[in-house]
Amino acid sequence: RKKVNGAADAGESPYTMPPEPGDSIGYFIQNKLGVWCKPRNDQWELGKIRSTAGEEATVMLSHGNVITVSRGELLPANTEVLDGVDDLVELSYLNAPSVLHNLQYRYNRDIIYSKSGPVLLAFNPFKDVNIYGNDFVTAYKDNILDNPHVYAVADAAYNDMMKDGENQSIIISGESGSGKTETAKFAMQYLASVGSQNYEMKSKLIQTSCILEAFGNAKTSRNCNSSRFGKLIDIHYNAEGTISSACIQTYLLEKSRVSQLCRGERSYHVFYQICAGAPPALKDMLNLKMSSEYKFLNQSGCLKINGVDDALNFKVLVDAFDTLGISHQDQENVFHLLAAVLWLGNISFAVIDQEEHVELVADEASRTAARLMGCKMDDLKVFLSTNRIHNTAEPLRMQQATDKRDALATFVYESLFNWLMEEVNASLKGGEQHTRHTISILDTYGFESLQKNSLQQLFINYADERLQQHFIRYLCKLEQEEYELEGIHWKKVEFEDNQECLDLFEKKPMGLISILNEDSNSSKATNETFTEKIKRHLSYNICFSCEKGAFRVRHYAREVQYDASEMLEQNSDKLQFDTIQLLSSCKKPLNRSASGLMNQVQTTGQSVGANFMDHLFKLIQQMENSKQHFIRCVKPNTKKLPGIYENDIVWEQLKCSQVMEIVQITKSRYPLRFTHQEFASRFGCILSKNISCMNPLSTSVAILQQHQIPPQIYQAGFTKLFFRGQVDVLENLRQEV
Ligand code: ATP
Ligand code: MG
Repeated sequence: RKKVNGAADAGESPYTMPPEPGDSIGYFIQNKLGVWCKPRNDQWELGKIRSTAGEEATVMLSHGNVITVSRGELLPANTEVLDGVDDLVELSYLNAPSVLHNLQYRYNRDIIYSKSGPVLLAFNPFKDVNIYGNDFVTAYKDNILDNPHVYAVADAAYNDMMKDGENQSIIISGESGSGKTETAKFAMQYLASVGSQNYEMKSKLIQTSCILEAFGNAKTSRNCNSSRFGKLIDIHYNAEGTISSACIQTYLLEKSRVSQLCRGERSYHVFYQICAGAPPALKDMLNLKMSSEYKFLNQSGCLKINGVDDALNFKVLVDAFDTLGISHQDQENVFHLLAAVLWLGNISFAVIDQEEHVELVADEASRTAARLMGCKMDDLKVFLSTNRIHNTAEPLRMQQATDKRDALATFVYESLFNWLMEEVNASLKGGEQHTRHTISILDTYGFESLQKNSLQQLFINYADERLQQHFIRYLCKLEQEEYELEGIHWKKVEFEDNQECLDLFEKKPMGLISILNEDSNSSKATNETFTEKIKRHLSYNICFSCEKGAFRVRHYAREVQYDASEMLEQNSDKLQFDTIQLLSSCKKPLNRSASGLMNQVQTTGQSVGANFMDHLFKLIQQMENSKQHFIRCVKPNTKKLPGIYENDIVWEQLKCSQVMEIVQITKSRYPLRFTHQEFASRFGCILSKNISCMNPLSTSVAILQQHQIPPQIYQAGFTKLFFRGQVDVLENLRQEV
C-alpha cells in the first residue's frame, strides 16, 4: 500500500519509516488535496480545496457544495487508499475527523475491531456480526486470520505465555454497555479452546459466566445486562499449555440494588429467573409468587426485559450449577435464600405505642422469610423490631426497622453471592496442581456518574481512575521516561496525567480514603464532621470541591458529585452482634458467613474502603507482574441500537482513553532496543575493522556507519541503541558470516 505523505516518504528504503505527524495544510492547499472542514453543526465534512486567497480557502464538499472557510479551520484528510486501515497508526494524518472517519468506515462494514497501536478497540455492534465460534477460533489459532479481533489478542497472550514463560493479562475497559463482559467471554472462549484437552474444565469455565451474570448482573438504564461487580478471571496452565485450573475474584458487588431500585431498572436477574422458571414443586416449597408480588422487584415499574426469557434462563442456570458440580442440596439452599430475600422485602411493621415504636407484623411474609432462612420466627421478630444495646433491647421506629430489614436482606444476598463464588472456584480448582503460568482477564466496572452517587460510585470511579493511571503509565509514561533518561532526541507527546486526582484519594495520612476510614472507625465522627474535615484537608487539590453534605471530584472522565450524607455508615458496614447471632442459627451458607464475619470482626475490623484498597492494590500488582494486553470497548451510540455511529459519543470515549496520544507515541516510537553491549556482540562479526580495542558504543556506531544505516532509523542512548525500523539488513549479513 502506497502512502501519500507529503514530504516524508521513505521511497525504496528497506527500512519502514513512520510518516511525519504534524500540520502540513500548506502542502494540501498547494496540491488541492482532500481536507476536513466543519461547515456547520460542528460535523466534520470531507472536501477538496479549489482555491485559496490569503487566509481563506474555497472548498468543494464531497456532495458538491462549495464553501469558503479560513485556512485555520482545515485539517488534512488521508488519501482514500487509507480508508478503513486496521491500525490507526497507519494513518498518515492523525486528527479527530480522520480517526473518526476510519473507525466509522469499518463500523459501517461490521468490522468492529481496530487497533490503535498496542490497544485493541472493540466497537459494540449491538447485533450478531458472525465472527465468533469454533471456525474463527481455529482460523486465528492457525494464523489463517490475523486482522484485529479479540481472538487475536487472546491468541497473542497465549503464545507469549508459551514462548516467554511469562504471566499475561488482558485488561478490558470501557463505559457501561460498551461490551466489556461480552468481550471477556469471547476471550475466555478462545483461551478455553486453545488451552484445553481438558474438556470438563472447558465447559465448566464457559458455564461460570451464566452463574456470575444471573447473580451479579442486572438491567440498568444504560445496559440491559449490566455487571454490578468487577471481576478478574485467572486461567492457570501447565507446562504443556493445557488449562489446569481457574479462579475468579469478584469485587464491589452493588449491594444496594437488592433493596433499592431506580425507576425502569431491575434487581439481579436471578430473582426474575426463579420467579418465572421454578418448577411447581420448588415454587410450593418456597411459597414463591410472581415477581410482581415482591416489593423489592415491583418498586421500579420494570419486571421484564425485551427479548429475554427469564424462565428459560432459570433452566440454563440450573444446568450450569449441575455442570459445575454444585450439589442439589446446595442448590436448594441457594433457592431458599433467594426466596427469603424476596419475602424479607415484603415484611411490614405496625406502630405499637405513642412513641411510634414498631413491631414486625406476623404474616405470610415474615413467617415465610423466617422459615426459608431457617431461623425462629420469634428471633426474627426481636431482631427486626429492636436494637440490642448491651443487654437491653431498644425498640425501633419505622424507618430504623425498615432499614434494618433491608440491611438484613442485602446481607443475606451478599453472603449468598460470596459463598457461590467460593463454590464456583472450588469446582474450577481441578485435580492437577502443576500450574506454570496464568492468563488473567479483567472485566472492570466502568466509570459511573448517576443522579445520586454514593460510596459505591466513589469506589468504582476511584478504581477506574487507578486503572486509567495504570493504562497511561504502561502505554505513555514509561516509554517516554525511558527516552528522556537515555538522553535521546524525542518530541514529547503530552498526555493527561491523573496523578493529582489519585493523590486526592490516596495521600496518607490525609487523603480522601484515609479520612473516610479513620472517621468510620471513630465513634465521635458524623457525616457532617467528615464533610468539614475533608473540606479542611483536601480543598488545596484542584480536583476537589466541597459543599453542604456533598463533594465533587474532577475525574479524568468527568466531574462527579458525591452525596456524603451516609458515607460513614456505608463504609463501616458494621453488622451488629445480633445479626451475627441471628445468622448463626440459619441455613448454610448464612451460618458460614456468620462465623466468617465473627473472625473478620475479631481479627481485622477493616472498613469496606480499606478492604477494597487492599484488593485493588493486589490486583494492580498482579497485572504489573505480567505482560499486559489492552482492550478498550467503545459504545458507538447511546440508543443501544445497531448501525448508528454518533461521532461525538465515540470521540468522547476515544479522548478519555487518550487514543490519539497512544497512536502518536506508537507511530514515532523505537520498538527495537539493544544495550550497546548486546548490539556489539551480536553484530560485531560483520564489522570489517578490528574491534578488540573499542568499547561497545564505538563498536556499535562503527557497525551502523559501515553498513550505512540511515540515521533516521536509530538513536544511540546512554546505555541502549533504539531502532525504529527493522534491522533485517544487518541480521541477514550476520547470518551470511
Ligand atoms: P457494564 O459495564 O454495564 O457491565 P459492559 O461493558 O460489560 O457493560 P456488555 O454487557 O458486555 O457491556 O454489552 C452490552 C450489550 O451489548 C450486550 O448485552 C450485547 O447485547 C451487546 N454486545 C456487546 N458486545 C457485543 C458483540 N461483540 N457482539 C454482539 N453484541 C454485543
Ligand atoms: Mg459488564
